[in-house]
Amino acid sequence: MTAVELGLPGVRGTPETTTRPDSPLLVDKFGRVATDLRVSLTDRCNLRCTYCMPAEGLDWLPKPELLTDDELARLIGVAVTGLGVTDIRFTGGEPLLRPGLERVIAATAALTPRPRMSMTTNGVGLARRAGALVDAGLNRVNVSLDTLDPSRFHALTRRDRLEDVFEGLAAARAAGLTPVKVNSVLMRGVNEDEAVPLLRFCLEHGYQLRFIEQMPLDPQHAWDRDDMVTAEEILAALRGAFELTPEPGARGGAPAERWLVDGGPAVVGVIASVTRPFCAACDRTRLTADGQVRNCLFSQSETDLRALLRGGASDEEIAGRWRANSWAKAAGHGINDDGFHQPERPMSAIGG
Ligand code: SAM
Ligand code: SF4
Repeated sequence: MTAVELGLPGVRGTPETTTRPDSPLLVDKFGRVATDLRVSLTDRCNLRCTYCMPAEGLDWLPKPELLTDDELARLIGVAVTGLGVTDIRFTGGEPLLRPGLERVIAATAALTPRPRMSMTTNGVGLARRAGALVDAGLNRVNVSLDTLDPSRFHALTRRDRLEDVFEGLAAARAAGLTPVKVNSVLMRGVNEDEAVPLLRFCLEHGYQLRFIEQMPLDPQHAWDRDDMVTAEEILAALRGAFELTPEPGARGGAPAERWLVDGGPAVVGVIASVTRPFCAACDRTRLTADGQVRNCLFSQSETDLRALLRGGASDEEIAGRWRANSWAKAAGHGINDDGFHQPERPMSAIGG
């Protein structure tokens, strides 16, 4: 029985069992199974979104610490063939900045069973790469876009690249990287008035919009609950212009709660990570660009697979350490708990 079936709440829970079953899968004490792997390909980025990076960027990981393309491919192979991972999401930093991106995707596509593959990107430069990404085997993209206004985009990302993002979106749709999903973070006093325009834009172009509540993962540690635009506020704004009805069917492990827009078939999603945590249904495991496995965005510890890999460990040894990492997963992220501590790594270095 899973944690969801047990009705465990989002951020607290009693372990379902304390003895790990003899399973090859990434199971945890709360009955969850991680089948969705987020792979960060780089911590670098060509934008500087104010909520994600300071203007001068961050101290990038030194090259020798980054996994090579072959090391990445091997770890992804262990996850897919040895641990039951079925979905891979490439992210970063900005994954399009990784020169070997198509190589890593092609190596992943060659695995049996072949996992589904998607990528979260800011869309800059996507127009040029969309065809090659499809050829390599990528199935889908999520493009991050927080505003439709060029001067706001410049203020928000500290770069003048809105047109590139529009072109990237259109190219992704034309290349068949569908459904093209758009991720938006709304911030008070910055772009909170754009819920309706962003949805209209996505409906018009056939993109699927998902709003994401801002989480305490910024390097500046400036996140403030009062500045966060909540899912409730976003939904209230949308309901002023559209009729929203809950999409039939279970939410499953998917973080987005989805609504049919004006009766459907178009949908809009809201990822209420802070106000309505979905930890009880979480099916994720994460690999950072420097080869550390994390069982949660907010975990305080990591498992160093790079050291194992470079020390000559076998695939089965690596798989065993990965399983132990998942088994140690906490019930929830704890953002709403009194003693909450933000993890040391910011979002861009974990892989959003
Ligand atoms: N550079 C790519 C991009 O922007 O899509 C991939 C990495 S980025 C860290 C992944 C997603 O995380 C983006 O949609 C971004 O808006 C979101 N993000 C970054 N910091 C966040 C935060 N503190 N809370 C919520 N979402 C955040
Ligand atoms: Fe770069 Fe994505 Fe962070 Fe923006 S959100 S700075 S695009 S990594």
